[in-house]
Amino acid sequence: MTDSPKTNLLGMTRQQLEGFFTAMGEKPFRAVQVLKWIHQHWVEDFQDMTDLSKALRERLAQVAEIRAPEVVYDQASADGTHKWLLRLDDGNCIETVFIPEKDRGTLCVSSQVGCALDCTFCSTARQGFNRNLSSAEIVGQLWLANRRLAPERTVAGKAPERVVSNVVLMGMGEPLLNFDNVVDAMRLMLDDNAYGLSKRRVTLSTSGIVPAMDRLKETLDVALAVSLHAPNDALRDELVPINRKYPIAELLDACRRYVREERHHQRITFEYVMLEGVNDSPEHARQLIALLRDVPCKINLIPFNPFPETRYRRSGDAAIRRFQEMLANAGYTTITRRTRGDDIDAACGQLVGKVADRSRRALRFARLEGTGGTAP
Ligand code: SAH
Repeated sequence: MTDSPKTNLLGMTRQQLEGFFTAMGEKPFRAVQVLKWIHQHWVEDFQDMTDLSKALRERLAQVAEIRAPEVVYDQASADGTHKWLLRLDDGNCIETVFIPEKDRGTLCVSSQVGCALDCTFCSTARQGFNRNLSSAEIVGQLWLANRRLAPERTVAGKAPERVVSNVVLMGMGEPLLNFDNVVDAMRLMLDDNAYGLSKRRVTLSTSGIVPAMDRLKETLDVALAVSLHAPNDALRDELVPINRKYPIAELLDACRRYVREERHHQRITFEYVMLEGVNDSPEHARQLIALLRDVPCKINLIPFNPFPETRYRRSGDAAIRRFQEMLANAGYTTITRRTRGDDIDAACGQLVGKVADRSRRALRFARLEGTGGTAP
């Protein structure tokens, strides 16, 4: 399966598809037709692409394919949250989570198998780094979610309703350490001929890879979330070790550069995991207030999601409320991320806390049962 000789069109941007068709001796506008079939109708069979000639469809079927990761299981929570465990060609597993809300549907997407960054409160870190996801594996998460959640999938005629309105790159991995594939996948998310999401509805979350933040600013216009988690270098060095390489002052400079860029009219979202007795005191709040004074931002407090053998505990409700109030009183838009899909351990941001164990367990199931987990 891994050494399939066919070209997977799923992760190709419009430009790349145009190159593909030109190389086939076809007109480049075929790219837009095929993009729409793939990303707006979630078609995987070239025979369904009815505005292409039969001859071209047959040629395509010989040299190309549309191949997404395989759903190992699909677990739905009482609140409508879905968690999919996806198996990649090489047997690795990743998770994708869909979180429905009144006015939007957010998909939390993974960018790597494992992670190299070793943040002490994150269980993906314990898995270590395995590999980068391809653009097909990244955008394939969105393709699969839409395909499975669409009320009906029409092959001809009008594109069916898109259920996923927002994408956050907050699953496993550090997206800025898989720059090119993540950018290609995000180009498809933004392309009107593919998913057509607005640039405010695609959010990349980073632990703060400073040079890549600047590169992103020059490359693509998306919302940026930064995992801050601590208001001083001593504490951040411990929680987010990449801070030793790119300390807070450099990180915040990069944040200012990102929002200063004319086309980025938005604010940075700072994520701050609430760890009891570690970073949640009024003194930490005061330091944070002073630190972010001149960065256009909002703050997301994330109640820590515990996992086996972690040394941390989630801050109490009262501590979280007090922390949030102090930031709000200082003029910061501050949201405490609601815990969703708790019954399936799938709340976004907290997905990461469990995914490594789950992947391993799923793999074990797969080995035991041959087909893996619950049938999709
Ligand atoms: N590498 C990216 C994406 C990580 S996941 C980044 O660092 O931003 C998205 C968010 O979930 C990050 O802010 C991450 O720090 C946070 N997170 C990781 N483990 C968590 C846990 N156990 N509980 C709560 N949030 C967690």
